[in-house]
Amino acid sequence: MILGILGGGQLGWMLGTAARRLGIECVFLDPAEHCTADLVGNRIRAAYDDAEALSELARRCDVVTYEFENVPAASAARLAEEVDVRPGWKSLETSQDRLVEKSFLAAHGVPVASFAAVEDLTSLAAAVAKVGLPAILKTRRGGYDGKGQAVLRHPEDLESGFAAIGERPAILESMIDFDLEASVLVVRGDDGATEVWGPIRNQHAGGILRRSDCPAPNVSPKAASAMLAHTEKLARALDHCGVLTVEFFVRGDDVLANEIAPRVHNSGHLTIEFAETDQFENHVRAVTRLPLGSTAARHRHATMLNAIGASPVHPDLAADRIATVDDLGIASAEATDGVAVYHDYRKKPRPGRKVGHLTAVSEEAPGAWVDQLITVIPGSSATEPASDD
Ligand code: ATP
Ligand code: MG
Repeated sequence: MILGILGGGQLGWMLGTAARRLGIECVFLDPAEHCTADLVGNRIRAAYDDAEALSELARRCDVVTYEFENVPAASAARLAEEVDVRPGWKSLETSQDRLVEKSFLAAHGVPVASFAAVEDLTSLAAAVAKVGLPAILKTRRGGYDGKGQAVLRHPEDLESGFAAIGERPAILESMIDFDLEASVLVVRGDDGATEVWGPIRNQHAGGILRRSDCPAPNVSPKAASAMLAHTEKLARALDHCGVLTVEFFVRGDDVLANEIAPRVHNSGHLTIEFAETDQFENHVRAVTRLPLGSTAARHRHATMLNAIGASPVHPDLAADRIATVDDLGIASAEATDGVAVYHDYRKKPRPGRKVGHLTAVSEEAPGAWVDQLITVIPGSSATEPASDD
């Protein structure tokens, strides 16, 4: 079995690591000079719309999946003519365009923030009249880590906000005053069988995920079961195969879906240490038609911290896949019964760039230990100033 993966970043690397464990070889397609995934497979270095490269990938692989949803539509269509692509087209097209996505969620009875389509300044004014202020203007396509977004607080912000997102087709959403953000990940097999992880609490700053905790603290049973039910329903509605992530805003017992990702997700990285089967292995299992593994928890608690903009490890250590807490110089680590593992992506640090993540698992609620870890993981604080990116 040979698995093709579009994208060779950290998600591709962790997918490839899981595939190896299952005896599955990976071939990546990515135009970058250096890729984290080069550690775990062969790569075709070419653009995502390079017809010849896509044909080569199709020839060499039994099935193709992707680590990001912005796969050009024409490339996905071309690949699908020659090889099985999982998840399929419906999951891709729904998650590529925020307007299509929000409309899909609403049509399936999943509550969302009120929204309106924006094409120009005239429709933006109409959207503000419908949605109210404050609101968030987001490009329909291509955004990630909060890119392509502008917050509108006052009527005079419309013009500058539209200019800030490049005057592109957009969606305006009302600003939700949430208690917390959470995600649920579901993996769905080709036969419709599912397994879930979460809800996981996610803390962002400057539009970038900084920290995730599982189980999510302070989520009512009612809100948790609503998120799980919505996520499973959406996976079915998309006839999804593989991992699907749904991000939610939680306010008391109420939940609003923010967005979906038809793939493994940053908030699910903690499943590597936390769950019997992690998101990467189960995604590979689903798309290669292997039976899914149990997602049961192996620990009481997990916290994941993203390293953003700078590496916490000494350059000599970065050659290893994983650094231990000792490598990070945290003196009191042994005083707890937890374990922390740092995953280094070998990426050149740039402001706002995720270069690694640390997961701490323990048999007790996260306390001073995690607070201490935050101080050694650059960019992981949820109170990080927005100027970071
Ligand atoms: P990511 O790649 O991290 O998923 P993204 O660029 O796809 O991010 P969103 O998930 O839509 O963008 O937004 C990023 C963050 O901005 C959200 O997690 C949330 O913290 C905040 N945000 C987005 N939309 C809203 C909203 N309508 N109300 C309040 N906060 C919002
Ligand atoms: Mg998001």
